[in-house]
Amino acid sequence: MITKSKTIDKFHVWTVGCQMNIADSQRVDVGLKRLGLDEEKNIEEADIIVLNTCVVRQSAEDTATGLLGKLAKQKRKKSTYICVTGCMVESTTKSLAQRFPHVDLWAKPQDTPKIIENIADYLNLSSDGCVENLIPEKSKFAEFVPIVQGCDKFCTFCVIPYRRGRETSKPTNQLFEEIKTLVDNGTKEVTLLGQNVDSYGHDLNPKKDLSDLMYLINDIDDLKRIRFLTSHPNDMSLRLIRTIKDLPKVCRSINLPFQAGSNRILANMRRGYTRDQFLRKIDQIKTIVPEATITTDLIVGFPGETERDFEDSLDILNRVKFDKVHVAAYSERKGTFAFRQIDDDIPMEEKRIRLNTVNQLQDKIQKKLNSKYLNKKFDVLVEGKNRDMYFGRTEGDKLVYLDDLDEKFIGEIIKTLITDYSPYSLNAEKI
Ligand code: SF4
Repeated sequence: MITKSKTIDKFHVWTVGCQMNIADSQRVDVGLKRLGLDEEKNIEEADIIVLNTCVVRQSAEDTATGLLGKLAKQKRKKSTYICVTGCMVESTTKSLAQRFPHVDLWAKPQDTPKIIENIADYLNLSSDGCVENLIPEKSKFAEFVPIVQGCDKFCTFCVIPYRRGRETSKPTNQLFEEIKTLVDNGTKEVTLLGQNVDSYGHDLNPKKDLSDLMYLINDIDDLKRIRFLTSHPNDMSLRLIRTIKDLPKVCRSINLPFQAGSNRILANMRRGYTRDQFLRKIDQIKTIVPEATITTDLIVGFPGETERDFEDSLDILNRVKFDKVHVAAYSERKGTFAFRQIDDDIPMEEKRIRLNTVNQLQDKIQKKLNSKYLNKKFDVLVEGKNRDMYFGRTEGDKLVYLDDLDEKFIGEIIKTLITDYSPYSLNAEKI
């Protein structure tokens, strides 16, 4: 419902960080368009700016604070409205407000209604009907759907539980309706998101789990693929692994972070499992869903990580042979247990050496794994064009570059023959 009195204001939503932030920004975008605002691609031209921030890595936080500094100048020039949301926003915003007094609103992650209502007030608009059910009217063929917010695990290096709070699941029926609407609007693939997606539903009454949700949405006609991110080894149940095997639309692609290979470091990280328990979970997955691709997350240079501990991590990589490893050097995050209690005692140079060692090992492993795809046929969802090459993904989330394709296939699932490979991607032709 729009009761607008002034010239159309232009907004820009700036996003950094994980898929959860991308999904949140998309919902802010929908709400602002419902207020009658126009999107502006160039941040310098926008009247209303929403920054959706991330603090998981220092570099992401530095990018956001650097941009906030620049925006002070823009605000002085043209009275730009500035809202900051995402993981940079702490439970108390006093120190941030002192540091960045030109910010109009600090909104916690996923507090989209507050953002829309505050901007409506600022512009003297009514937000009636603008904050409910913020689903894009023209859906993209692949959409992220947050299903559980926050995390109860409190790993010692991670700031997420402090910024996103305890686990809170969206009701299953609400998610069914949301996903059905997305599919009616053109979506073919959904990625169910949670910081710990496998713990979905334990807080609902009656309790549900991720398998319940998957069974429900698997029946939506025209939905072709269901993905999910990110899993925790302790919450990946036998039922869930069987569901991945049994449901045709659930992609056989699993991201299961192990973070460290040494029991001593795992305990210091408070991950809640040992290396043997992690390896048993992998065995379970490989036994029940042998065709599954498995990716992981790994931190090198966690405080106190010795050469021997690091070799334990390499040993896990050599045993499991992951399809991809998201590896990061440990960096201190303010507010975490590790920041308060453990010295960051591994020099950056050593962390870089360990990063390189992991990357070199993974290159070899991935090249060998990808060589098995050569001359085989796969369905690929075409996602877009990068420079001169079209690209898409297999069910197993392998990035595929496609020769001689046409624009009209973007958003379609096509049959392909793999013609070449590298450690990072496959090449294919349409058949
Ligand atoms: S499980 Fe993931 S999101 Fe939760 S505290 Fe650990 S690293 Fe952070």
